[in-house]
Amino acid sequence: MTEKFLENYKLEGESLPIKTYPDPVLTKVAEEVTVFDQELQTLCKNMLYTMYKAPGIGLAAPQIGVSKRIFVIDVDYERDETEEDSGEYLLSEFNPRIFINPTFKEKVGETTYQEGCLSLPGIYEDIKRFESIVVEYNDVNGELKTMDADGLLSICIQHENDHLDGIVMIDRMSKLKKSFFKKKLIKAKKEASHNL
Ligand SMILES: [Zn+2]
Repeated sequence: MTEKFLENYKLEGESLPIKTYPDPVLTKVAEEVTVFDQELQTLCKNMLYTMYKAPGIGLAAPQIGVSKRIFVIDVDYERDETEEDSGEYLLSEFNPRIFINPTFKEKVGETTYQEGCLSLPGIYEDIKRFESIVVEYNDVNGELKTMDADGLLSICIQHENDHLDGIVMIDRMSKLKKSFFKKKLIKAKKEASHNL
């Protein structure tokens, strides 16, 4: 059931507008999902579509204004421009994953990776994370699953899980860097609002 659902949503869905910092939904603690219905499936499908379109490798529900404990990830897909400078891309090798109500059962080691975030446009910074994790979560049907993750998948899960706790990337930086980027993002947003 889950696999079939995952097969079918890759490149169809509705592209949802992505909230950018300092939108208040990004600093809220998201709520547990208790109902596993068609509406939830549609939301996950649209989140994946939005993520592939952005493009990004992960997207959490608060980033599209839904304060629920859900995120989607694909760290494996390929994105190739069909022709040089055409601006058209062909996506392949999909490996979509959906995590609902995730909790960490184990966090081991340390790693640093230059991260970006669709809600913090233009910022790419080294962030310290656990190297490997064991995460327990519900799938889209509400079934409890466990996954061991390391490498980019582990980093991505930790980044997206932060969004569910109202934490954004700059909260993981030094005080000085945080205030620098915070000002920069607020200024960029003000300027953008003048562009009618
Ligand atoms: Zn993010």
